Amino acid sequence: MPSSMNPITPFVEGELPEHTLSDEVPYRSLGEECGVFGMVTSKTQNLGQFLFYGLYALQHRGQESCGMAVFDNDQLRIHKDMGLVNQVFVPSVLEKMTGQVGIGHTRYSTTGSSNLDNAQPVVVRTRLGAVTLAHNGNLINTESLRTFLEEKGYSGYGDSDSHWVAHYIRYALQQQEQLDKFPLKSAVKEALEACEGAFSMVISTGDTLIAARDRNGLRPLCYGKTDSGMLVVASETCALDIVGAEYVRDIYPGEIFVAKRNGATESFFLDGERDEHFCFFELVYFARPDSMINGSSIYNYRMELGRKLARVSPEINADMVIPVPDSGNVAAVGYSHESGIPYMEGLIKNRYVGRTFIHPTPELRERSIQLKLNPLLDVLKGKSVVVVDDSVVRGNTSKKLVEMLRECGVREIHLRISSAQVKHPCFYGIDMSVPSELIANKMDIQEIQQWLGVESLVHLSVEDMREVGHNLPYCMACFNSEYPAGKPNSEQVGVC
Ligand code: SF4
Repeated sequence: MPSSMNPITPFVEGELPEHTLSDEVPYRSLGEECGVFGMVTSKTQNLGQFLFYGLYALQHRGQESCGMAVFDNDQLRIHKDMGLVNQVFVPSVLEKMTGQVGIGHTRYSTTGSSNLDNAQPVVVRTRLGAVTLAHNGNLINTESLRTFLEEKGYSGYGDSDSHWVAHYIRYALQQQEQLDKFPLKSAVKEALEACEGAFSMVISTGDTLIAARDRNGLRPLCYGKTDSGMLVVASETCALDIVGAEYVRDIYPGEIFVAKRNGATESFFLDGERDEHFCFFELVYFARPDSMINGSSIYNYRMELGRKLARVSPEINADMVIPVPDSGNVAAVGYSHESGIPYMEGLIKNRYVGRTFIHPTPELRERSIQLKLNPLLDVLKGKSVVVVDDSVVRGNTSKKLVEMLRECGVREIHLRISSAQVKHPCFYGIDMSVPSELIANKMDIQEIQQWLGVESLVHLSVEDMREVGHNLPYCMACFNSEYPAGKPNSEQVGVC
């Protein structure tokens, strides 16, 4: 949809036109999640420019839709649309996004439909004026939030958990007979205490930016500051870097961090037990390698996963280690360093292929992997190759990859996976296949090796991953079925 059809407007809550994406080329079975970004400053500035670059750095977390909302005092401008950040935010849109408080979001829908109705930030009218919210993660109790709010007369906000949280804040504000000293703070606390599951959120009004994380800290969220005193909140530190903000710290599990336009900050916590269980898959695949978690770069974690993989694999006389780009890049370097087998690039990725295509023909869909990856024939022909990837989910992509490598004359393929076998669904914001579609639930390792047609196949174990993660308590539920924040009562979970 051209941006001109969705102009920047002062806040108007209303119907947004439906826009459904075209077919997705079945390249990966793991859907990325969402990215959030926010900033607050005392001086009026063109926040649109900063938000653009912040969201651009978080594009890997969601490529279906994106949006930003900027307050200029009490006037709100919001713009959101389907598409990538540089498609949605053209210069004529950005130049109008001046103000003092702004938030943004890149979205990948983990359940439900992919349409503009579910694009974020979400906006609600409250007795304090407009409140905006952007959310990464999935709640597991969306249905009970919905039931509760519908009983109170709030209805019609679709299947998005983020919408229900925003309306819970609105409801909580409405309940305050006399507004508290800091009404938004207590309303946000009340709303988030009603939420179960995973959330890293940014929430804003005309003079306040709030960053909040669930009690398990499942999804990442951090903040930093620029030299000019602007406070910036982002899903990952790579988005702080791009706007020149120095990383201060992660938002703690269960923390509600409040930053005001006048530079004052305050921090308080959700009631109840806080028990950090960061998503291990962020380390394996989702987060960018140049982001930092717990004071270490994701790059280092991935190198260590690759080294560990080499240590637990049988010794082989392969000619080279190649990654499946980009997901296997860093682990392949680690594997190569540890094993002494030279690192080579055997597959070249087309960097300009996004998640969506204009309806490819069935024949083209069959060769979909080659739209994204092309093998280097003269590097690979006749060689014995260690191929490193981050995960195997349904197995279809790996099978196509192996077929492609065989077609160009690879003699031996030793597949190495820098995570354990994925056997269980994620309820916290990652789109995985249903359990019956997961290859690890259909066959044992030997059968998978045979089905893929590779000479050998090695995964890391859950214990190996724990060791690389310094035995900290991570969420590894998709590998071991131990869900730190519980499971939903029904299969119905909210939309990221
Ligand atoms: S279930 Fe897997 S993907 Fe989901 S939060 Fe836990 S580790 Fe991450």
